[in-house]
This record gives sequence, structure tokens and C-alpha cells, in this order.
Amino acid sequence: MADTDQARMGGERRRLDALVIGAGFGGMYALHRARGMGLDVLAIEAGDDVGGTWYWNRYPGARCDVMSIDYSYSFSDEIQQEWTWSEQFAAQPEIFAYARFVADTLDLKRDIHFGTRATAIEYDDDACLWRITTDRGDLFEATYCLMATGPLSVPKQVDIPGADRFGGELYLSGKWPHHPVAFAGKRVAVIGTGSSGIQIVPVVAEQAAHLHVFQRTPSFTLPMRNRPLDPDFVGHIKRHYPGLRAVARHSLTGGVRPISSRPLFSVSPEERERLMEEAWQHSGLAFLGLFSDLLTNAEANEVVADFVRGKIAEVVDDPDTARRLTPRGYPIFARRPCLDTQYYESFNRENVTLMDCLEDPIVEITEHGIRTREREVQVDMIIAAIGYDALTGAMLSIDIKGKGGRSLKQKWADGGRSYLGLVMEGFPNLFIIAGPNGPSALANFILLNEQNVDWICDCIEHMRANGLRAVQALPDAEDRWMRKVTELGGRSLYPTANTWYTGANVPGKPRVFPVYIGGLGRYREICSDAAAQGYEGLEFE
Ligand code: NAP
Repeated sequence: MADTDQARMGGERRRLDALVIGAGFGGMYALHRARGMGLDVLAIEAGDDVGGTWYWNRYPGARCDVMSIDYSYSFSDEIQQEWTWSEQFAAQPEIFAYARFVADTLDLKRDIHFGTRATAIEYDDDACLWRITTDRGDLFEATYCLMATGPLSVPKQVDIPGADRFGGELYLSGKWPHHPVAFAGKRVAVIGTGSSGIQIVPVVAEQAAHLHVFQRTPSFTLPMRNRPLDPDFVGHIKRHYPGLRAVARHSLTGGVRPISSRPLFSVSPEERERLMEEAWQHSGLAFLGLFSDLLTNAEANEVVADFVRGKIAEVVDDPDTARRLTPRGYPIFARRPCLDTQYYESFNRENVTLMDCLEDPIVEITEHGIRTREREVQVDMIIAAIGYDALTGAMLSIDIKGKGGRSLKQKWADGGRSYLGLVMEGFPNLFIIAGPNGPSALANFILLNEQNVDWICDCIEHMRANGLRAVQALPDAEDRWMRKVTELGGRSLYPTANTWYTGANVPGKPRVFPVYIGGLGRYREICSDAAAQGYEGLEFE
């Protein structure tokens, strides 16, 4: 943006040590850490408050499917002692309140500009700094740019023909309005049956006059069996938090739940059945830790998939609806597993109709509702829970230009790539938090954010202590990391399903599985080892 345009928009001009982009859980901690190092740091955030995904995702039923005692910051004993979770799996209002509590406790808001979205980020090779322009006309110059833009923060827009003609209410789950939305007495359509749709359906079903659920790919979902947390249990957790956090940080996914090392076929069929039934009755989360080879052995995977298919048939009264709700053709857990409360049960209600978009696809949205190939359903409200341009979408939505004016779009033309998911060749001093090439969506994001931010801040401290101006990844270190990520991923069943993990949910997006599947604990070791060896894989100026 030219200086004159800048001045006309009346934005702020400021030279900073570090700019953090995004004030979700990653950005909040980055701001806190950078401030603690004495950096002149500012965060900008598109929303009007902290919380990131939990600020935007206010849809009915929104809840985290990671246990609250795990899905919370571990860096401050003061915070973990003062905050008390009320449920095993916290709902959006409680997580949002937690984010605000943390921001108040750490006095973060004085250094966050809300309602401000980065539009362009350009590297000045000579001055060794980033110039960041925003939609409010600000121009910031920063030595370090910390991208805390989130892996699931760009909701897909409704691209069904006629969406702009619809005369009723139309909401995106990932950009839910802040005003109350009433469902009572209304005819509602939900499009999409991923984690978001599966949470929305049971809540809206209880209130709406009628609910039509437009399902394209059926998801596997397991019962969450949420419950209030007993104060004695919470007291026990608080007393043992240091030890529990240490376990979680070095675990596969960043949680304290047990993960088995036994392959499925090492267990007798009767025992398998008993274990799966127990997990089903206890909480679906337990399924993920039952056997070691569910995402590497297709036959083992099919045993568990079949068990869950059988449960759908048991729960859903109408055999035809049960058949259409039953997922086939992809491995269970290769799409993000969902945990639900009364999802399948909702289809036993008289006021809920399953619309099978595989048999009868949506053709268009009309003024009065949704027309499929075979019929038109008239509704007062459409809720689109159709997912995200995940992992790379948020960073690519900003016009980022690195060394020599090379754009991130060029660099990521074949999919997101970086070294350790943290640093890139050609983009010096631009750090990624919870980026596409770390454990990302397979890990507890809060612990991953903490690990990423700590590593990045330690690296910045190392640079300042040694008078180093800039850091970027060495090309061959980045290549090696991406080969490792791709090779490990290729040995698993993840790439075989059409998911947002692989970019298959966004037309035209490169089809790659860029996520490191070796687990949070192993990833932490790799990052720490690289740092201990003088930041192996990085090139300093
Ligand atoms: P998603 O998993 O990508 O699901 C989107 C759904 O919309 C899919 O069923 C998709 O069908 C359908 N869809 C998209 N376009 C459509 C169209 N034009 N017509 C009909 N159906 C269409 O998105 P999400 O449910 O928002 O979840 C994304 C991720 O966010 C989750 O995997 C999870 O990581 C996170 N999340 C977590 C929680 C939680 O913690 N409980 C809650 C919500 C979200 P196809 O599969 O056929 O494309």
C-alpha cells in the first residue's frame, strides 16, 4: 500500500520488535512470552475479543472434544489453579470465558488491536524486517512476525448456486452471529455432518419445528458421554497438574488418556468386542487409545468401523435411515473422529429428516429453501456447517511476500511446506504457530501452541543473545522434514480419505497430507534436539 493510501485510511504506523497475528490460544501465549522477553510486541486480531476459534464458533452445541483438563494452558500454575472446569468436555461459552480470564489475568488486551485483520505482509530484504498492512490502514514494521492465524479459521463460503437468493436466515457455523438465534417453531436445514454439524443437529432438533439434515459423506461419531466434573476429582487434578502436564506434553496427542501398544489382532475377538463395548459405554474418546494399529492396518481399522456401524443400526429405529447414516468406503478415524451427544438418537425424532445428498444431491438454494435433484425442501433457516479451508487457508488469505518478493502462494503451490512446521526457507523471521506441518490437528492444540511458542521465543532469544538479525530454514532441512512428514503420513490410512487434512474438501486445493503423524511427544523431542544442536536446519544472518 502506498504511503498516501495509508495516510488516507488513518491507520497507525509503528515499528515493533514482534507482531503476533491472531489472538486465539496460540497468539495469546505468544504475546505473553514475547512481552516477558522484553520485546516491543503487539498482537492484531480480526475478532473483537480473544479466543480465536472459540470466539467465532458460537453455534448451538459447540463444545470441545478434547477433555477440558487437557485442553487448557499448562504454562502457568496460577492459571491452572485458579480456573475450574465444570464439565469433562467444556462447551464454547466456558472455553471463551476461560480465554477471557487468561487475557485478564495476564493483562493481554492492552497489547492487542481487535477488529484488525492483516491483509499483506511483505519482507524488506535490505532492512531485514516485515511490513504488515491491515484492513484498518495500519502499517506495522516488525523484526519478527508470529503467525498465530489458526489451522481452522477460514470457514468455507456457501458455494451452492442460489445462496444469495435465499429469503430466510442463513448462518455459517464457523462465523456464528453474536445475537441470539431462535429455532423454535422454525423449519431448519443443516448442511454438513462433520464435527460441527454433528454437534448442531441434536440441539436444533429439540427446538425446531422441523429439521432437515443434508448429509453428503456420513461421519463416524462416537458417544461423548459428557458429565459435570466432580469437585473432588478437580481438586485431585489440580494437586497433580505438574505431573499430568508432563505426561501430556510427551504423549502422542497431548492428553493424559492411556494409549495402548497392542495391535488389534493380538487380542481375541471376544476380548476386542468387550473392550470396544466398554469404550462405547465409557466415552468414545477411549476408542482412540484401544489398539495401536487402527490407522496403519486397514483390516484392524475395519473391525472397529464395523463395530460402530453395528451401533448405528442399534440406535437408529428406521433401518433405511440407519443405512444412510452408516459410513462406508473410508477408514474410521482417517477423517477427524467426532464425539457426539445424542446425534444418532436425533434421527428417531418425528421432526428430523435425513436428506442423503449422495443419493439425491443438492442442486441449488432457492428463495424458499433447498432444491435437490428430486425435491424442494422449504425452510426458514439454513445452517451451513460445511467446514474450513484448513491448515494453510488462513496464511494464504494474507498476501505474504518473502525474500526477493516471492509469495507464499508460490511457495505453497503444491501444499503447505516448512521446516518443523515452524520456519520456512525464503521467509526469514516469520514463524508459524500450529502450522500445517507439525502434529497440528492430531494433537491437543493448546499444548502444541505452547510448545511452538516456547521454541520460537527461545530461538528469538538465541538470536538476540548472539547478535543474529535473521533466521530462515535451510532448503535441504525443509526438504528433509517434508519428506519425513510425507513418508510417515503415507504409511498411515490418513491420505486414503477425502478430508480437510488432505485438502480434498476445497475444490482446486493441492491434494497432500502435510501433517506430522509421529505424535506430539516425539515432535517435541525433534524440535528440542534441533535447538540443542545450535538450531540445526536453520540459517542465521
Ligand atoms: P468438516 O469436518 O469439514 O465437515 C464439513 C461437512 O460439510 C462435511 O460433512 C461435508 O461433506 C459437508 N459439506 C461441505 N460442502 C457441502 C455441500 N456443498 N453440500 C453438502 N455437504 C457439504 O467441517 P466441520 O464440521 O466444521 O469440522 C472441521 C474440524 O473442526 C473438525 O474436524 C475438528 O477438527 C474441528 N471441530 C472440532 C469440534 C470439537 O472439538 N468438537 C467441533 C467442530 C469442529 P463431505 O465430507 O462430503 O465434503
